[in-house]
Amino acid sequence: MERNQMKKIIFATGNKDKLKEIRMILGDMGAEICSMKEAGIALDIVEDGATFEENAVIKAKAVSAAAGQGEIVLADDSGLEIDYLGGEPGVYSARYAGEDTPYTIKNQMLLDRLAGVPKEQRTARFVCAIAAALPDGQVLVTKGTIEGYIGFAPAGENGFGYDPIFYLWEGDCTTAQLPPERKNELSHRGKALRAMKEQLKQAGI
Ligand code: IMP
Repeated sequence: MERNQMKKIIFATGNKDKLKEIRMILGDMGAEICSMKEAGIALDIVEDGATFEENAVIKAKAVSAAAGQGEIVLADDSGLEIDYLGGEPGVYSARYAGEDTPYTIKNQMLLDRLAGVPKEQRTARFVCAIAAALPDGQVLVTKGTIEGYIGFAPAGENGFGYDPIFYLWEGDCTTAQLPPERKNELSHRGKALRAMKEQLKQAGI
């Protein structure tokens, strides 16, 4: 890479909310973070892995193959695991009750399924796996989690997806009530991306 030329990373997601968080968390890398769209890649990727890690690797490899040699591609696969529901919605978090169903409805459906369940049995976590496909063919994977519980009513306007029903034990507030910087400090995505930054550094990127 020429001196002064900014490193480019293609992030394999079409989710604008995730990308906003990712850009904040990777802001100190001195890299240009491009969405698939900005990189001119239109792909319909079948996420048929059984785990977040498998799906992140599937996405990173598919986008890397489409982007061509020399590109650094990162991908995120994430979701919400609710213990009382046997880990649902899990890897199906985005597709739960239909991809296009508004989260106000998805969140209410989950609250309804937990009706009458006491707080100590409402344990849940957000999980995020990050995969990197590097120009030399190496694939790196990291994972981060944040523990909490599903509350009894939605609260907060920040964040996205299931944030309004995901409560932290400390402070009894949802991740949708946290300022974005604070969510990124604590979140599954923040942890997984910071671990990935370390691995990339060690790989010389
Ligand atoms: P993916 O795009 O297949 O990884 O799906 C991720 C889905 O998990 C999102 O669409 C949300 O439903 C959920 N999710 C992941 N991370 C978060 C988060 O930080 N807050 C709220 N919901 C999340």
